[in-house]
Amino acid sequence: MAPVVIVGSGLAGYTVARELRKLDPSVPLTMVSRDEGSFYSKPMLSNALASAKSAAQIPTASAEQMAAQLKARIVAGIEVQTIDTAARMLHAGGEDIRYSKLVLALGADPIAVPLRGDAAHELMQVNDLAAYARFRAAIQGKKAVALLGAGLIGCEFANDLVGAGYEVQVIDPGQQPLGRLLPEAAAEQVRLALQASGVQWHLGTTARAVSRVASGLRVDLADGTALYADAVLSAIGLRPRLQLARNAGLKTNRGIVTDRLLHTSAADVYALGDCAEVDGQTLPYVLPIMRAARALAKTLSGTRTAVVYPAMPVVVKTPAVPVVVCPPPDLPGAWTLQREAGGIEARFEDESGKLLGYALVGEATARKQALTKLVPPVLG
Ligand SMILES: Cc1cc2nc3c(=O)[nH]c(=O)nc-3n(C[C@H](O)[C@H](O)[C@H](O)COP(=O)(O)OP(=O)(O)OC[C@H]3O[C@@H](n4cnc5c(N)ncnc54)[C@H](O)[C@@H]3O)c2cc1C
Repeated sequence: MAPVVIVGSGLAGYTVARELRKLDPSVPLTMVSRDEGSFYSKPMLSNALASAKSAAQIPTASAEQMAAQLKARIVAGIEVQTIDTAARMLHAGGEDIRYSKLVLALGADPIAVPLRGDAAHELMQVNDLAAYARFRAAIQGKKAVALLGAGLIGCEFANDLVGAGYEVQVIDPGQQPLGRLLPEAAAEQVRLALQASGVQWHLGTTARAVSRVASGLRVDLADGTALYADAVLSAIGLRPRLQLARNAGLKTNRGIVTDRLLHTSAADVYALGDCAEVDGQTLPYVLPIMRAARALAKTLSGTRTAVVYPAMPVVVKTPAVPVVVCPPPDLPGAWTLQREAGGIEARFEDESGKLLGYALVGEATARKQALTKLVPPVLG
């Protein structure tokens, strides 16, 4: 019998494999990954300095250890080039691998930043362990980092780097950090708290060019400012990896399109994680991946199971200013704010006063669980 094949050894790929093994100890399982296949928690990458972990200390198991744990064949360091859905076969590194069922857990690519300057190619992006190891090597013994993007990952890196003694300058076209997640007053509290920790903001502008100078790198901004840094890290966002699926004729939109069974448009091909658009939702976070992986493992082992997404709060790992967000859906509504000593509670409610989402800053984050219970499920 051809194996179940999982492409990708990130959180999505490994969580499906683990859940499947719990339900079916004997089904043949093959995993193919273009990275080294170690298991690690990606969210740790943006707070590893605070936890005093080097890049090498982040993985908790090697590909070989995972293969033994999962009783799986793990083909690491090999990219899947094509999928032939009619022949139920994929082609990877000169080998044709047959599948009975195929799971795509391909992740997402950092969005490229169009920059001029003779050092534009030195811009760093961190979306996996290998890139993080390169970033850590680049800042070792250095003191200044410029960061493009004041979203969730940009703010987390900024907090981690200032905490470790780096000078950090953050550039973002928005007027506030976390501008897409938080209402203005809450975002302002985050801006002030990170500023008090040492983060320098360049908001309402963008980086135009990165050039090499005697002292390191010079970053020219659209507003005419020039900054100097030892490394420039971009954290402006991710885009689901679609090319492999598109070339195989699978339906794609913002992500690889699936129904609530995580089933794509091709027979016996499934997708989850950062690459997937599940019933219209692209949710590049850990909690939705866990939910999707558990449901998919049941389906793969013979019990068709639709994924259910309850309201899933996102914790922003900025110790200088605790933040929890339960992002509201794209529905009509308005934010109402309650300021209190040490925090802000912002509720996003519809016309009838029904809570659709929330944002908590500072001590108000203690109300995460109570409020989450009131928010309707994302996919019920
Ligand atoms: C710095 C950082 C901090 C984060 N913090 C949080 C947080 O605090 N909370 C939270 O909920 N979320 C957080 N996230 C998001 C979360 O980590 C991701 O949603 C999750 O890890 C994505 O897992 P994935 O398996 O879908 O993708 P990935 O981990 O990107 O895995 C994709 C896999 O596919 C493989 N692959 C791709 N193409 C091919 C190919 N053609 N052939 C073979 N293999 C291929 C890759 O090698 C890789 O193994 C953070 C993300 C980052 C970058």
